[in-house]
Amino acid sequence: MSVAIWCIATLIVLGALLYHRVSLRSFTLGTVVMLALGTLFSVFAWIPWVIAAIILLPLNLSFIRKGVIAKRILSVFRKIMPEMSQTERDALEAGTVWWDGEIFSGKPNWKKLHSIPAGKLSAEEQAFLDGPCDEVCAMLDDWKATHELADMPEDVWQYLKDNKFFAMIIKKEYGGLEFSAYAQSRVLQKLAGHSTILASTVGVPNSLGPGELLQHYGTKAQQDYYLPRLATGEEIPCFALTSPEAGSDAGSIPDTGIVCKGEWEGKEVVGIRLNFNKRYITLAPIATVVGLAFKMYDPDGLIGEQEDIGITCALLPRDIKGMTIGRRHLPLNVPFHNGPIQGEDVFIPMDFIIGGQAMAGKGWRMLMECLSVGRVITLPSNSAGGAKSLALVTGAYARIRRQFKLPIGKMEGVEEALARIGGNAYLMDAVTKFSTAGLDQGEKPSVISAISKYHMTEKLRQCMNDAMDVHGGKGICLGPNNYLGRGYQGTPVAITVEGANILTRSLMIYGQGAIRCHPYVLEEMEAAAVPGKEGLDRFDKALFGHIGFVFSNFVRSLWLGLTGARFTAAPANDSTAHYYRQMTRFSSNLALMSDVAMGVLGGELKRRERLSARLGDMLSYLFIGSAILKRFEDDGRPADDLPLVHWAMQDSLNKLQQSQLEFLENFGAIGSVLKGIMFPFGRIVKAPSDKLGHKISRMLMEPNATRARLGEGQFLSEKGPFGYVEQVLRDIIAIEPLHDKVQKAAGERLPFMRLHEIGLKGKELGVLSDEEVALFKRAEEGRLRVINVDDFDPADLLAGQAARDYALAQVGKEKSVA
Ligand SMILES: Cc1cc2nc3c(=O)[nH]c(=O)nc-3n(C[C@H](O)[C@H](O)[C@H](O)COP(=O)(O)OP(=O)(O)OC[C@H]3O[C@@H](n4cnc5c(N)ncnc54)[C@H](O)[C@@H]3O)c2cc1C
Repeated sequence: MSVAIWCIATLIVLGALLYHRVSLRSFTLGTVVMLALGTLFSVFAWIPWVIAAIILLPLNLSFIRKGVIAKRILSVFRKIMPEMSQTERDALEAGTVWWDGEIFSGKPNWKKLHSIPAGKLSAEEQAFLDGPCDEVCAMLDDWKATHELADMPEDVWQYLKDNKFFAMIIKKEYGGLEFSAYAQSRVLQKLAGHSTILASTVGVPNSLGPGELLQHYGTKAQQDYYLPRLATGEEIPCFALTSPEAGSDAGSIPDTGIVCKGEWEGKEVVGIRLNFNKRYITLAPIATVVGLAFKMYDPDGLIGEQEDIGITCALLPRDIKGMTIGRRHLPLNVPFHNGPIQGEDVFIPMDFIIGGQAMAGKGWRMLMECLSVGRVITLPSNSAGGAKSLALVTGAYARIRRQFKLPIGKMEGVEEALARIGGNAYLMDAVTKFSTAGLDQGEKPSVISAISKYHMTEKLRQCMNDAMDVHGGKGICLGPNNYLGRGYQGTPVAITVEGANILTRSLMIYGQGAIRCHPYVLEEMEAAAVPGKEGLDRFDKALFGHIGFVFSNFVRSLWLGLTGARFTAAPANDSTAHYYRQMTRFSSNLALMSDVAMGVLGGELKRRERLSARLGDMLSYLFIGSAILKRFEDDGRPADDLPLVHWAMQDSLNKLQQSQLEFLENFGAIGSVLKGIMFPFGRIVKAPSDKLGHKISRMLMEPNATRARLGEGQFLSEKGPFGYVEQVLRDIIAIEPLHDKVQKAAGERLPFMRLHEIGLKGKELGVLSDEEVALFKRAEEGRLRVINVDDFDPADLLAGQAARDYALAQVGKEKSVA
């Protein structure tokens, strides 16, 4: 055996051991076997043995490895570990790690993905979706609510309360519906697909707020009093955290609560004097109970020795002395109730703190824990519901609306926008299905909640822009006939709330993900905080596990890059197998890049937001890709859906690849080296092709099983605008061949307008029956209703004082005439 052959064989064997992440003992054994073979075949004498001994002996001898190496590194690590505030620590520790841990591992277990149970609706939940949900959608006239009343009508409010829409998260023992996360998501999807004001109003009490906080942390007395009242809508809650001076940086709220003595119900008690100024608070103008976050101090030591107690949450009844509440903000013409609240020297007893005095100072942690759940459900579901309705209605509109003698959806430019809406709607529903199934398994996935919130709201914005472009002026002129405008106006609200999107992408996703999802970093940090032998034992294990992890990911990235991941196992053998393989490859790349970034930049990575954002995008698209593949699997792999799966996967992998390349291109010389290792043949993933986009756009333009699955669960009754457009689509498709028949009989080309006249002509020519003529008439009425927009008497557009002045002037005119 020559030296070259031995070297290659050794590299392959040791590489394979690292690739498969064998234990240190097995790796050492493998090295010894290869050395023995080299000696046996007289390839070398003793030098490789010495080198191997220098490297492997200290690692295998605990007294050197732990007693010297790990000990030294631990003492340096303790000195350089970045300082973390309590609020950062609480945010970091909140929630659980779930599938996000798997994709960060560099070696996702796809069988595990398939074994996660899919979300299911109980009979009661299904009945709620088919009954009260449909009913309330049919009741709400969105134009009336948004333009005339700046509120939902009284009967809709009452219906929502009577049917416990505000109590989906409240347990049955308190009179709530206690729906699964999956069911809540389906309800919100349906409501959001009909009306933004409806979805926002129902979403908030079921998300982060008094109901959720009380169930988890409330005292028995608080739960017994408030939860039944919240369940029936007798109490309307809001939750006030944001202040004019503290928006994204919510941990720095300047609102204070000073522990002092005061009078409560005629007696002197120890309580809290609150001073606060809050804004943007959803439901505040009509709330009967206000959840308030403030910083609590005890300067006189009335309840203990700690002066600065920390962020605390309390519940305040609306009529409490000193609180000003009731004024409204107007959030982009989607007038769900939202407004400011101020309080001056408001005195509350200690038992107003959620969870009582024992929970004083624990408010931030409570909020972070609840956010991990609420943020997975509300905004992502509203966004996915919106996108599903947009996909159907825009596909239908593109078939109904004609220009240049063709349905506009047949123009290639429009096809591109339609394909994006269809592909994204499939993807978004996949994400909400997967992530809420996780919640129903008991997970509180904080990193996934940030991923879902950011990407679903951004994708809705993309879908909304595309839908507006396809609809042209029809989407722009507001009025009862415009089913898009208010949704478009309201889209940035979701971008801004529950962690504004730039901050969420730049700071939160990877900032939390790097530490929470990494298999060793959190353990290293925690071990470093534990003194003595236990700390050293834990640190040693985590540190050397981490080193092995880095080497393994290096080998995996190199091998998967060189082979294009062709030889990696995939749990499918159809056209989706390639996606599993590429995801495995990108997962190994992310794990390696992440360690390199943390190793090179340390705490500085937190400030390098653009790098951090790209690492977050990698994590996000690995999650989104998993959700798409999981949905296809759970749906029974219907072949007709493959165009949507291909589009969604190709778009996600392309974005994933883009984020990896951009990261490497902005990471100096190390980035260039890594790029050579990870992308030896350049870009490997392509954006979805025009051909694929064409298939999706055609699928959206006519009723079929895939389209029905895409819009599954949306409100499509003819009583609502989206259902009406569906009906018109069916009529237009039914008359298209009849229109051809009339053209043929008439021997001339006829325009696709004034269809009722064409129907009569067909009757005259003897090629249409009376029923078909009636169909032409109905199709024309529908077509005109779909493409027409509203116009107004100028006086109808006046609002506020201008409208009142105008009305008075009219009365004056009438009097003078009389
Ligand atoms: C309609 C509506 C309803 C709301 N409902 C509630 C409610 O019920 N209760 C409640 O307490 N609050 C509520 N909010 C407040 C909401 O959560 C805040 O608006 C949000 O946290 C952002 O704060 P801000 O608007 O002051 O923006 P700012 O904090 O001023 O941020 C402005 C921009 O800077 C970016 N940014 C800030 N810091 C960073 C950073 N470190 N890195 C990168 N980018 C950064 C943000 O992403 C954003 O793009 C609501 C807001 C709105 C508009």
